[in-house]
Amino acid sequence: SYVGVSSTSFRDFLLKAELIRAITDCGFEHPSEVQQQCIPQALLNVDVLCQAKSGLGKTAVFVLTTLHQLEPVPGECSVLVMCHTRELAYQIRNEYARFSKYLPDVKTAVFYGGVHISKDIEVLKNKETFPNIIVGTPGRLNALVRDKHLSLRNIKAFVLDECDKMLDQIDMRRDVQEIFRATPTEKQVMMFSATLSKEIRPICKKFMRNPLEIYADADDTRLTLHGLLQYYIKLSEAEKNRKLNSLLDTLEFNQVIIFVKSTKRATELDKLLRECNFPSLAVHSDLTQEERIKRFKEFKEFGKRICVATDIFGRGIDVERINLAINYDLPIDADSYLHRVGRAGRFGTKGLSISFVASEEDEKVLSEVEKRFDAKVPEYPKEGIDSSTY
Ligand code: ADP
Ligand code: MG
Repeated sequence: SYVGVSSTSFRDFLLKAELIRAITDCGFEHPSEVQQQCIPQALLNVDVLCQAKSGLGKTAVFVLTTLHQLEPVPGECSVLVMCHTRELAYQIRNEYARFSKYLPDVKTAVFYGGVHISKDIEVLKNKETFPNIIVGTPGRLNALVRDKHLSLRNIKAFVLDECDKMLDQIDMRRDVQEIFRATPTEKQVMMFSATLSKEIRPICKKFMRNPLEIYADADDTRLTLHGLLQYYIKLSEAEKNRKLNSLLDTLEFNQVIIFVKSTKRATELDKLLRECNFPSLAVHSDLTQEERIKRFKEFKEFGKRICVATDIFGRGIDVERINLAINYDLPIDADSYLHRVGRAGRFGTKGLSISFVASEEDEKVLSEVEKRFDAKVPEYPKEGIDSSTY
């Protein structure tokens, strides 16, 4: 199948019994291809640099292998995971909670900006809550380390999710480097993304020693997501709202994510949709952090079926029921496009993506997408499409 699932079982990895039980509870039957490629090596404490299609279970690679190797010592943090957005940090922390449910001694915490740092300091001061595993965003983590609220001298595993994004941005890269320097030399380093350009790979490898390198698109550019149908619709800016309205009326979907290019447009579009009685919410950076997480949770738990989002939701976010992604505004490049549409069709389930093309700029991005991923994105048919195909 296109997920690359084979007859191997999670048992073959000889994981702790407590982990196998949790994996079974999660309904995972067979490891995906990327999990088969990475987990055995990662369990041997080898560094890992892994680029694999979105939605195929990269998270479980580092969550399971760090949990397996962890021998929790109270008051010592041995696993550090960083990613680029707060919602993703929150999601990864929940994955740790899910897989460590039969490992009662393992404590986890998530730290990110936008909320009072005093709460984080409380967690770190209290012996009962002091985490063995920390997930977070670089700015807040660096602040905690710099002000000596957090010591990283017991770190044994250092993980970057969406690593290209984290090392691309200068300020984030600086935080990552400072945090890295506060960890011991002897440790395992793992990095993951759906996109790893040739330029960024050597930068990643500077943090690693002799890593296992996995590149899903090593010999071709075919990163296209197999279960995903992709279309575009050409229209003018003024026609977008009406078109969106009719798509939401006619398409059958479980949950949809609609990407726009600014927080202002997210707020406005969400308001408009709600006025038309669509069950919508918006997630963007112009909300308090508590509100952002609250809405993310509500969407993830199926409280609303429509989410209007900016690019803070473009990467890494995993909502099982999303089977439709709409680019109300096209992103600025092909990589962002790939990450965004990858929100639909998780773990090889089917999905549909529709992109609005409203300018010459948009047309350029679309042809860049087709070139980069060696795929044709056809025009959305006038008569619509059969819902059994996505
Ligand atoms: P990626 O980071 O590669 O984009 P995720 O780690 O977010 O993908 O996983 C996508 C979805 O697939 C998640 O909902 C996850 O629970 C599910 N998943 C991962 N591995 C398996 C597996 N072996 N069997 C079934 N579902 C899986
Ligand atoms: Mg991911």
